[in-house]
Amino acid sequence: MALTISGLSKTYPNGVKALQNVSLTIGNNMFGLLGPNGAGKSTLMRTVATLQAPDAGSVSLDGLDVLSNKTEVRKLLGYLPQEFGVYPKVSALDMLHHLAVMKGITKKSERNEIVDALLNQTNLWDVRKKSLGTYSGGMKQRFGIAQALLGKPKLIIVDEPTAGLDPAERNRFLNLLSSIGRDVIVILSTHIVEDVRELCPRMAIIANGKVLLEGSPTESLGALRGKIWSKVVASDDELKALETNLQVISTHLIAGQHEVRVFSDADPGDGFKPSESELEDVYFLSLSRHAKN
Ligand code: ADP
Repeated sequence: MALTISGLSKTYPNGVKALQNVSLTIGNNMFGLLGPNGAGKSTLMRTVATLQAPDAGSVSLDGLDVLSNKTEVRKLLGYLPQEFGVYPKVSALDMLHHLAVMKGITKKSERNEIVDALLNQTNLWDVRKKSLGTYSGGMKQRFGIAQALLGKPKLIIVDEPTAGLDPAERNRFLNLLSSIGRDVIVILSTHIVEDVRELCPRMAIIANGKVLLEGSPTESLGALRGKIWSKVVASDDELKALETNLQVISTHLIAGQHEVRVFSDADPGDGFKPSESELEDVYFLSLSRHAKN
């Protein structure tokens, strides 16, 4: 399977250019779409999910024109939107049966098999009869994946699924996503760098509706190897001085002290130590290079 996005643009009536000539090629396996809030990720996800029309551009799924074949595409699509509402009084079991019927799985025995398997896969079997309103954030998101997987989709879109999950729930959720399989396309949109690092063999970074980088996290990390330096700074003044003289990527507070990371081809001296490149460096550098242009 391959999803080809070509020259997508979208300007909202208020003048916001949410997508500006976005092109991406996405193959099987997990693809990370990483960008800050407001980058245009949801706009792109909704467009690919056939819920919103762009002003220009095309999307093709293995040669099928996505924008003009909505019904066909929806049969191949599993979607977990950013704002995933659930009916609070309905149980997961009943809701999945209802949605399965809507997806055309009308034979009771077949439906039982599919729904039970999904409840097991998403670790919701024990709570399947509880109403969705009583679920924790992580349980709701796992239910969201269960409903997205109904009908064996070939293209699965999950929009910012880990925002708001506690570390244990997030871990469980990411493990679930990674188990979905290699012969489907999974697009994971997120502003959390770690989500992409842990799961995605390929990724794109977007900001202001533009693709800043497309590639593999490993290659992007390799390109920065030997060029990342870090040091703990003693004062705000020192930090300010560094910011004027060096390309500062990020500062982190560690036990109340600022650790600063810089990008430099050569050793900046002055107490800096070489540091392993991290995906966060790739992300922040892409964003700051874009902001300067
Ligand atoms: P992300 O998912 O990366 O946070 P969005 O696609 O939601 O980004 O938003 C991209 C930009 O478009 C933002 O500036 C947002 O405020 C704006 N936007 C999104 N939806 C609408 C809309 N329906 N009307 C006007 N502006 C919108």
